[in-house]
Amino acid sequence: MLSNRLTTFTVGLLRYRRRPPLSLTPTMSAAGRGLATEAGGGVLCRRLVGKVAVVTASTDGIGLAIARRLAAEGAKVVVSSRKEKNVSATVDKLRADGLDVRGVVCHVAKADDRNRLIREAVDGFGALDIVVSNAAVNPAMGAFLDTTEDEFDKILQVNIKASFLLTREAYPLMRSGGSFTYVSSIGAYQPFGLIGAYSVSKTALLGLAKAVAQQSADRQIRANCVCPGVIRTRFSQPLWQSNEAMTEICRLVPAQRIGEPDEIAGVVAFLASDDASYVTGESVVAAGGYFSRL
Ligand code: NAP
Repeated sequence: MLSNRLTTFTVGLLRYRRRPPLSLTPTMSAAGRGLATEAGGGVLCRRLVGKVAVVTASTDGIGLAIARRLAAEGAKVVVSSRKEKNVSATVDKLRADGLDVRGVVCHVAKADDRNRLIREAVDGFGALDIVVSNAAVNPAMGAFLDTTEDEFDKILQVNIKASFLLTREAYPLMRSGGSFTYVSSIGAYQPFGLIGAYSVSKTALLGLAKAVAQQSADRQIRANCVCPGVIRTRFSQPLWQSNEAMTEICRLVPAQRIGEPDEIAGVVAFLASDDASYVTGESVVAAGGYFSRL
């Protein structure tokens, strides 16, 4: 039953560009992909020295990888998520690796929490340069038009409205040269069959980045999205724990594997850095070559 649902889910997700069957490719670490790394998972590139960042939903998965990467590149980073124990464990772990981080509880849908997150950067680290809006929920799985109003409201509230509000609240305090990065999804371009409302919220983030980019350009503040394909996290666990789903993914994704969180973190670090100083209102797809757009 579960495997039937997963196969349907995966086929719904990845309907395009059928390829011949290929063997499963195992996880690829940064070192395995030929990238230079330091002990502690840091990278040799130090593009973010002097910058202060906040990252939502950064105690696990893609958000944690982003926080670690920004800090490894020299940023001071405020990590956050809903649960105090996750926040303190993450702060301890990153500090043990020599990274300069603070932590704060922040459920992105709560105004007081968002305010505390921003204050932690401004009061604790003395500035705000980088906001990464990464939190998302997906309480509904099934036919799009069966999504209930409550489910739709919750998805829009956490995935898009909270990103807008965080942006509006952070913008006046952000220094010139700063940036917003929204974690969208490959599903922003072609809605996934069984998670349609989630996909719609991710499409809305593309519009949010463009709208913010237009207004913020005169302060030299940029806004972009990153659009991951399937990445190995708790969120996507039902997919990568299913041989059937993984076989299908490997058939349909030119890279023949799912992605790792640090492969999204690298894109976010680029977008937050001066290397992306002329990149704004854009979305960068990191999906192993899977169909998105021309
Ligand atoms: P994940 O591994 O499930 O990470 C969950 C993290 O989010 C935890 O730190 C959790 O900590 C925190 N969190 C959950 N709800 C929150 C809320 N309302 N406010 C603040 N923090 C919250 O998820 P992920 O796969 O890394 O996904 C991160 C982003 O990537 C999402 O925007 C997702 O849509 C996007 N994405 C993921 C994939 C994928 O295949 N994984 C693909 C495309 C896009 P607490 O429990 O302590 O709150």
